[in-house]
Amino acid sequence: MKRIIILGSTGSIGCNAIRVIKQLSDYRIIGLAAYGNHRLLMKQTQELKPRIVTIIDKRFHKRLKAQLAQTRVFSGEEGIGEMIDALDADTVICALASAIGIRGVITAIEKTMQICLATKEILVNFGHLVMDKVKKQGVRLIPIDSEHSAIYQCLEGKNRQDVMNIILTASGGPFLKKSIRNVCKKDVLNHPVWKMGKKITVDSATMMNKGLEVIEAHHLFDFPANMIKVVIHPEAVCHSLVQFKDGTMLAQLSTPDMKLPIQYALTAPRRLTSLTTYLDITKVKSLTFMAPNDKKFPCLGLAYKALEIGKTMPAVINTVNEEAVKLFLNDMIKFHEIPRIIEKVMVKHQPLDGGLDQYLEAIEWAKEQVRTLA
Ligand code: MG
Repeated sequence: MKRIIILGSTGSIGCNAIRVIKQLSDYRIIGLAAYGNHRLLMKQTQELKPRIVTIIDKRFHKRLKAQLAQTRVFSGEEGIGEMIDALDADTVICALASAIGIRGVITAIEKTMQICLATKEILVNFGHLVMDKVKKQGVRLIPIDSEHSAIYQCLEGKNRQDVMNIILTASGGPFLKKSIRNVCKKDVLNHPVWKMGKKITVDSATMMNKGLEVIEAHHLFDFPANMIKVVIHPEAVCHSLVQFKDGTMLAQLSTPDMKLPIQYALTAPRRLTSLTTYLDITKVKSLTFMAPNDKKFPCLGLAYKALEIGKTMPAVINTVNEEAVKLFLNDMIKFHEIPRIIEKVMVKHQPLDGGLDQYLEAIEWAKEQVRTLA
């Protein structure tokens, strides 16, 4: 029996993770954490009967505690770590919409739990700190992000010295063939392939999502920026590729469905029957690949630049992007202003290295910068 904790259980990945786990025998959910959707968290708790749940937004703590007499209810960001500490889980699925769960993830690594990671921000912000701990503790960290899951699968059993490039695919988002002048929120939130949360849907439209994925891939697979490429692949059937020095390319193909990478992260290296609609290759009319348009989507170039600068710079661009996306979703800035704000703050930032506190300080500094610019 594998005991699982899900951080971010009420989001799109979290709900899919519950579906996946329900149809796998031998997996049991013993802990759940959600940011603020207390109604869904309560429903999930009544159904799955975990031992502990955490509501990060403390305003709902009392209410949830009163409603869930059989379950221990923790609250706040610190509640995540307390829950992980109190439970003997085998695996933690981290699917919160931001890096808010970092201390919890570190606790889980220290307790040698396997990490299934959907929250790319954890690696973008704190990649060195997290991966150093992962190596030191000898734990498995398996990506859920579909591109990284694909690369993880293509690299399994291979010699990393034989790798020439890793190639992340991007669907291109809603503006692949449309102008990005005067776009409204509705156009941005209308992703052609993936149904996801609002933040990541905006990031797909600016292509910052792919930029953050380049940084994520760097930390996960330990290849330098110049070995990590991006190609546009609108059909979203090929989830990423690895090119080896002999010229061979390996790819992972499937219907675009997050349930598959979630399940693989849990069962790797086993491949069990899944809930995914199986790909009928004869129905795939064409697979196209093209270079991204760097001028139209400057966020991608900014992310590469941040990765090359390193230290606290990736955490800063990620934070500025998060804040800028919030402003955009609240109709306070226009779509094209997102990369401009990121660039302005990057120019001002003096990147530093250090421990978690230095990184958290840089994140606070970046938030403050956006407030003064907006
Ligand atoms: Mg992805």
